[in-house]
Amino acid sequence: MADSYDVVVIGGGPAGYPAAIRAAQNGLKVACIDAWKNRDGTAALGGTCLNAGCIPSKVLLESTELLHRAQHEFAAHGIKASGLAVDLAVMQKRRATIVKNMTQGIAGLFKAAGVTALAGHGKLLAAGRVGFTAHDGATRELAAKHVILASGSVPVELKSLPFDGKHIIDSWGALELDTVPQRLGVIGAGVIGLELGSVWRRLGSEVVVLEALPDFLPMADGAVSKEALRHFAKLGLDIRLGTKVTGAKVVKGAVDVTFTDAKGAAQTLKVDTLVVAVGRRPNSRDLLADGTGVRQDERGFVVVDEACRTGVPNVWAVGDLVRGPMLAHKGKEEGVMVADLIAGHYGEVNYRTIPSVIYTAPEIAWVGETEEQVKASGRAYKVGTFPFMASGRARAMEAGAGFAKIVSAIDGDEILGVHIIGPMAGELIAEAVLAMEYSASTEDLQRTIHAHPTLSEALHEAALAADRKAIDIPNRKA
Ligand code: FAD
Ligand code: NAD
Repeated sequence: MADSYDVVVIGGGPAGYPAAIRAAQNGLKVACIDAWKNRDGTAALGGTCLNAGCIPSKVLLESTELLHRAQHEFAAHGIKASGLAVDLAVMQKRRATIVKNMTQGIAGLFKAAGVTALAGHGKLLAAGRVGFTAHDGATRELAAKHVILASGSVPVELKSLPFDGKHIIDSWGALELDTVPQRLGVIGAGVIGLELGSVWRRLGSEVVVLEALPDFLPMADGAVSKEALRHFAKLGLDIRLGTKVTGAKVVKGAVDVTFTDAKGAAQTLKVDTLVVAVGRRPNSRDLLADGTGVRQDERGFVVVDEACRTGVPNVWAVGDLVRGPMLAHKGKEEGVMVADLIAGHYGEVNYRTIPSVIYTAPEIAWVGETEEQVKASGRAYKVGTFPFMASGRARAMEAGAGFAKIVSAIDGDEILGVHIIGPMAGELIAEAVLAMEYSASTEDLQRTIHAHPTLSEALHEAALAADRKAIDIPNRKA
């Protein structure tokens, strides 16, 4: 007889594991099937985010930013640092240890919440029926009143640049390099290209990034993209826009990449390692048996409504497997919403206020609409900008680069978007998210007391600047 559960979650990443925990908190009997295997063959919960994404990348970004600051900023503080050296093995061991601790932490959370963790492959056979194949090959069927699909995403592979795991690698490979490549090529100047390009550049690689689009970071506010490009150039990232990669060959341990540049001229590039980071695609490999009724769009995303219902009764889908930004926190909120809806509680995700963060230096973060999007909508708007150069706290941190910018509607004073490039932008954006979530007006932000001297004053002053009331910078003329 099949084991029976109220909820079976397929996938234990940042969308699936919170769904399982919340469902258990709601008093339901829950199992979470997860297929992740690390390179040493061990199973681990946490999915892409914990094992090969958010966490390991942030660990390496932190380590290498410290190195960069020691090399380039300490002198300004009057600190003489000599003999700085990198022990990459120690740096990578720290990364691996943090990842291991965090993934084991999820196993502990499951135990505490009473979630049954099943290591292996899950497949929706029909509404209410899930096939489970354990890593040792044993199979069985589970009965489930509700099934939540949370199988995540995998890197896009280009036909012209197939991964070989050694010279042509994906982002996971780029996180686990055990030597610093002298020359590193990156295909794609998206979030992964910029974060991992920064890591290896700071460790000494010559980094060339080939980007297909003519514009840099088109999803960010135009002023932010412009400022960011300047800082990446200063770091030494050689970003070439408007390029078309035609192929690559591994010759004597190096990769010869062929591409056409923005003017259409044929070019070649020789690198030791090539990272392909051109986006990710939904992972639905062997996830759905024939005839389940779960629909997928032409790109493979499982089709869902705003509450993550697939349309098949009691089958839900969340995270990178479905539409919307491929972000851990978006998946987490969807997982929690679904678990609450299943239990008959209230649940909702506000897709208008999902923050985006790029963890480079300076850090980049935004929420809501860019100035370009607001302009295109035809709505009358006002803009307030405050440079970190005028922030006492940022100056104390030797981090005066960048700015905070607010875009608000003239009618009703609604905050439409907030864009920050500068120190701790990813932390500062939380205030803007909260303000927008609670429909605060620009004036509400202006009237909120911000401690002095803090970085958060930059957002306060930007809100004041939108109405030409800034105190710490001259206001633009009417
Ligand atoms: P995943 O994390 O992909 O988890 C899905 C899980 O399901 C995996 O363990 C997989 O093995 C398992 N699975 C798949 N199929 C089956 C099956 N049939 N049966 C059982 N199990 C299955 N996002 C951020 O918000 N912030 C960041 O800083 C950030 N940094 C990133 C850095 C990198 C290098 C990468 C690659 C991604 C990063 N992301 C970041 C994106 C983030 O990792 C994803 O948005 C997030 O992991 C998606 O969560 P998920 O649970 O939907 O899928
Ligand atoms: P991305 O969509 O951010 O960037 C991919 C880039 O590659 C784009 O600029 C695209 O124009 C370019 N590109 C596509 N095809 C190309 C080609 N043939 N040649 C050259 N350039 C090409 O994707 P990513 O950087 O691979 O990241 C994948 C996902 O992971 C993203 O959705 C992102 O949200 C998520 N992620 C988030 C974070 C974060 O939140 N800090 C960090 C890393 C990854």
